Amino acid sequence: PIYQGARFLTAAARLEQCPVDQGREVAFSGRSNAGKSSVINTICHQNALARTSKTPGRTQQMVFFQLDDSRRLVDLPGYGYAKVPEALKRDWQTQMSAYLEQRRSLVGLVLVMDIRHPLTEFDQHMLRWGGRANLPILALLTKADKLKSGAVRTAERMVERVVTAEQEANQVATFSSLRRHGVGVVHHILDRWLEI
Ligand code: GDP
Repeated sequence: PIYQGARFLTAAARLEQCPVDQGREVAFSGRSNAGKSSVINTICHQNALARTSKTPGRTQQMVFFQLDDSRRLVDLPGYGYAKVPEALKRDWQTQMSAYLEQRRSLVGLVLVMDIRHPLTEFDQHMLRWGGRANLPILALLTKADKLKSGAVRTAERMVERVVTAEQEANQVATFSSLRRHGVGVVHHILDRWLEI
């Protein structure tokens, strides 16, 4: 029930603007259109917690959701593969690597990927920074409803090999916001990270 009660706390463009670095938080990252907002909404049983319509190119922010007095979920900014200005990419890299390496309350990262297009360059950056920060990563392969079950298992095994080679503690799970598949597994992993 803790996830159902998630509510907007604040948004931050830079590390200094983040809420006080106490308690525990789990961050969600994903290339735009991967299905990240849908994952956050689905695991919190809410329709519009994380917005699904975003303006490309706009300065993106980290959005913090409060679960209780000491626990938070964080929606990290992503970008698409299309014409993203180099300056914006560089800014994102600086911002994200600083957050992942310096944020002490951060206990885990959910890296949301479209199961049909996993491990993009964006995802590789996140995996590498997560590894450098010794941060456990859950690679969440969403839109699993788009593939047949054999292809789902093949993708899952391939991604598992790559992410556990980066760090042994990394994990993989499949998900579908459409079918609400995988919600229990994500709750279980987040419960452990957040000590719920
Ligand atoms: P974000 O940009 O990563 O936050 O992605 P969104 O959550 O906004 O989703 C991008 C698009 O993919 C939207 O059109 C969603 O309706 C669709 N989508 C998201 N999750 C799923 C899913 O599990 N299954 C299917 N079939 N479509 C999905």
